[in-house]
Amino acid sequence: MRTIVMSIGDNKVADAFVEGLLRLQDPNSDMSGQQHQALALWLVGMIGSAACIDAYIARPTKSCSCKPAKKGWRKAKRFGWYICPVCKKPSATVVDSWVENMTTMASDLLPEVVFKIHSEEPKEGEESESVA
Ligand SMILES: [Zn+2]
Repeated sequence: MRTIVMSIGDNKVADAFVEGLLRLQDPNSDMSGQQHQALALWLVGMIGSAACIDAYIARPTKSCSCKPAKKGWRKAKRFGWYICPVCKKPSATVVDSWVENMTTMASDLLPEVVFKIHSEEPKEGEESESVA
C-alpha cells in the first residue's frame, strides 16, 4: 500500500477536494451516474491543476507476529521502517498506527470533513431538498 501526501495551496479547494473524494467513494451515495461522473472529472482536473505531491510513502499492511518477539530489529533500507530479523515485517504498532505516527507533528483534519459530510446528510425519514 502507498500513502500519498499532497499539498493544495487554496484551503477551500483542498476542503472541496477531500469532501468530493469522500462523496465519490461513499457506497451509500444517492448521486446519479451523471453526477458521479462529473464529480470524478472535477477531482481529476483539480488534482492536475492545483495539487502538488509532497511525498509518496510505502505503507506496511502486514505485521510481525513472531512469538516470542525476536531481537535484532533493523531499519529496512528501501521503506525506512524497522523490521523483524526473522519475518522482515514491521511491528503491529507501526501498521495499526500508521496515520497517527505520520501526523504526530500536525493535526489530521479528515475527521472534520467526514463529520461535516455526515451532518449535512438528511436523517433517516427526512427528505432531501432535491426530492422535495
Ligand atoms: Zn517477525
